Amino acid sequence: MKIYVDRDKCQGSGECVKVCPHRALQLIDGKAVVDHDRCDLDGLCIPACPHDAINIVEEA
Ligand code: SF4
Repeated sequence: MKIYVDRDKCQGSGECVKVCPHRALQLIDGKAVVDHDRCDLDGLCIPACPHDAINIVEEA
């Protein structure tokens, strides 16, 4: 499993960056990007996103 950011939905609000306790999210060029080495899959960023751009998905 991993956190997936839909770049088409992401508006760069940064709400996910604020709630992540592991500093696994940052905005790069106005889009949220996940550092999968830092992410512990707690899922806090999913409801934090006002644009429904973040989900947990199966590893490809
Ligand atoms: S699932 Fe948790 S640790 Fe991972 S990016 Fe989201 S808020 Fe951060």
